[in-house]
Amino acid sequence: MAIDVYIVNLKDWGLPQKKFFIVAGPCSVETEEQIMETALGLRQCEVNVLRGGIWKPRTRPDSFQGVGEKGLTWLKNAGNAAHLPVTVEVAHPEHVEKCLQAGIDILWIGARTTANPFSVQAIADSLKGVSIPVMVKNPTTPDIELRIGAFERLNQAGIKKLIAVHRGFAVYKKNLFRNLPVWRIPIELRRQISDLPILCDPSHICGSTDLLQSVSQEAVDLLYDGLMIEVHVNPRQALSDAQQQITPAEFVRLIGSLNPKRISIDNEEFRQHMSGFRQNLDEIDLRIIELLAQRMDIAREIGAFKRKNNVSSFQPDRWDEVLRSRTQTAIDRNLSPDFIQQIYEYIHEESLRNQIETEKDEHD
Ligand code: PEP
Ligand code: MN
Repeated sequence: MAIDVYIVNLKDWGLPQKKFFIVAGPCSVETEEQIMETALGLRQCEVNVLRGGIWKPRTRPDSFQGVGEKGLTWLKNAGNAAHLPVTVEVAHPEHVEKCLQAGIDILWIGARTTANPFSVQAIADSLKGVSIPVMVKNPTTPDIELRIGAFERLNQAGIKKLIAVHRGFAVYKKNLFRNLPVWRIPIELRRQISDLPILCDPSHICGSTDLLQSVSQEAVDLLYDGLMIEVHVNPRQALSDAQQQITPAEFVRLIGSLNPKRISIDNEEFRQHMSGFRQNLDEIDLRIIELLAQRMDIAREIGAFKRKNNVSSFQPDRWDEVLRSRTQTAIDRNLSPDFIQQIYEYIHEESLRNQIETEKDEHD
């Protein structure tokens, strides 16, 4: 089902057509020189927009909070010198007002702000009658409805040039990723809002520089329209997000390494081959669904049996054993144990629901 949000296709924004839509620049604007040197370093590459945070939504109050309003002029001057439009994060109407006065070209709403409908509505209200593109990052929680709500609020205020930025979702402790990508959520977002351009922000997904290239390539493979990447002329000295920023030279290498994919090719042999693969997948999917249906039938029988014997549906020891043995089988078959664990968590939840549902039916 497509959601009723009217989006201007990125191709019709009147911007120079490039391979990808790239937003690059430091996490924070820190000094006039830092943003100017970073912007000039980006000229050698296919960048569309220069980014820089002015008001920073830092987790802790004693961290650097951004240079504030004066940074808008530094950013705008740097953009002019590099012939690039500029973008700034806004979190409330006063930010919007200052950005509009300073001639900022594109606004973006950060992950913590998208999570708050009051803030998004206040920003949308302050944009009524204004024509400026807005990029919306995903909220820190994987709540797709909240995200869609943000696009609806902005759209109802008359903003039609909208971009989604996928920056991953918060985790309790960073391990491989600072923010988990959960790629299926932006895939669903794109299905629900057609024409919505989607950028990936690998910097905030990775939280470090080692996986940047592979996450960026993954986004390209998933047909993202472009990337937002944090670039700083001197990353080690950065006042925010120092571990994840790269130099302009590293950035040029990263973008150069990306290998864009086609959605299809016009070749009969390729089409036939693909159709053979897809037929196999379709048959396997039918078998998976049939087996799941059989599994749920047994769950309902077990539910009735447990009830007759006054035994609880949830059996912690049995569940531990199921998880342990299924993830072991996954490893033996070269599948990711995390993947199988997630699937089994869903299956178990549905089995319990089926067991309890029979109980309700019996009482009706
Ligand atoms: C940022 O882009 O610097 C930022 C604060 O990002 P996010 O809102 O994704 O955390
Ligand atoms: Mn940042």
